[in-house]
Amino acid sequence: MDSIVIRLETNGLNAFLNDDKTVSLYPSDSETAVFHMSAPYMYDTAGAVCHEIDVSLARVEDEYLISYTPDREWLEDESRVYPVVIDPTVSTSTDTSNIDDTYVHPGDYAGQHYGETSFKVGNYQGKLNRAFLRFLHYPLEVDENNIIEAWLTLKMVSGTTTANPISILEVYSAWQPGTITWNSHLNMSRKYIGHTSPVGTSHYSFWVNDLYLNAINGQNTGFMFCYLDEGINDWNQLYSGNYNGGSVPGLLRPSITITYKASSSASVGFSTNTKLTGGVRGRRYYVGMTAEDFASDIQYAINGWSQDNTISFSRTSVSTQSVMDIYFMERSPSMDQARAYTLYFNTSKQEVPNNSEGDPLYDWYYCQIWINKSAAEVLVPNTSTSRATIAHEMGHVFGLDENNDNPYSIMCQYGHGRLTNNVQDCDRNGVKRIYGL
Ligand SMILES: [Zn+2]
Repeated sequence: MDSIVIRLETNGLNAFLNDDKTVSLYPSDSETAVFHMSAPYMYDTAGAVCHEIDVSLARVEDEYLISYTPDREWLEDESRVYPVVIDPTVSTSTDTSNIDDTYVHPGDYAGQHYGETSFKVGNYQGKLNRAFLRFLHYPLEVDENNIIEAWLTLKMVSGTTTANPISILEVYSAWQPGTITWNSHLNMSRKYIGHTSPVGTSHYSFWVNDLYLNAINGQNTGFMFCYLDEGINDWNQLYSGNYNGGSVPGLLRPSITITYKASSSASVGFSTNTKLTGGVRGRRYYVGMTAEDFASDIQYAINGWSQDNTISFSRTSVSTQSVMDIYFMERSPSMDQARAYTLYFNTSKQEVPNNSEGDPLYDWYYCQIWINKSAAEVLVPNTSTSRATIAHEMGHVFGLDENNDNPYSIMCQYGHGRLTNNVQDCDRNGVKRIYGL
């Protein structure tokens, strides 16, 4: 792994990289950042943590690309236990202008509590209180598969704190903090999501992964909070987006913190550093008649490897033009039961000799992928398993070794708990590294 690149669609916001490796995003007409990305760190499976990650920022048309380049010495240290996870977090801006909130109770009038520095939830002086909250800018339109978790935090005002759980509801109807009332909120469309008890006397944390994604996609209009048991005679008070006391008032206002990840790959290239002579671009592959049923799986696998301009392979019907043939063949029952395997050949179409681990000792000019007709589990065409298996074998053709430490790599063997059926960035980055692309 060299770098991990995160793409930011900022919707017109300007991004700046700060000296402490955080990134702040500003509207073009404001000096107040609407959100911040924290400095990244990485950790391995043994729990070792490293902050040595270079951060760079580049503008490409309407997007920003943030690159995280981890310290290679730390990554390659023999004590490292893979997989390594790079773990940046990003939080919604706690600027007052980024937060809409208020609360309602029976008998209120429009805008009665708009602008207050805290909001109430629960029964207070004989009236039931419910709160509404949303953020105007949400950080990062990241790939949802990269989000590990998103937490919404509400800090408690001291002196009112009891340990009673509060429910979070997703709201779908339009609302404005200056006009919403108890009566108008009764007709609003909303759904109960869950509830949580406070952490000590300091705050409530709500797990909001799906709500966060829905907010980004405009599928909700914010969140409502109410007591889980509205029959009890108790209330809590929480700091609002308008709170302005203390030395750093923003620390007490509501926020969402998102942790996202990118898994890295330890092994790239065979141990002997051998590869396909002539490279992986502008090459041809040939589908043997026996494997014709797998033709669309093969094309699917090619497409996965072709992303980010990693490889380019087109199909040929002239077998002599091919550097990668695919066959569906019977292997002697005494041979291994793998679902597929790859054979490497030199210019005279003789098999390249292997080392003790079965890796080819020399560069190869041509490969054959055999889908094993006598496997314990024979591949079925047009399934995610057959696409994944073929993509895995292609990785071997391009020079990648097994990557059994990383279940998110297509080069992790199925029997070692592979969790993906598609070629991943770490796999493509491995190929790029082998060929210096
Ligand atoms: Zn393999």
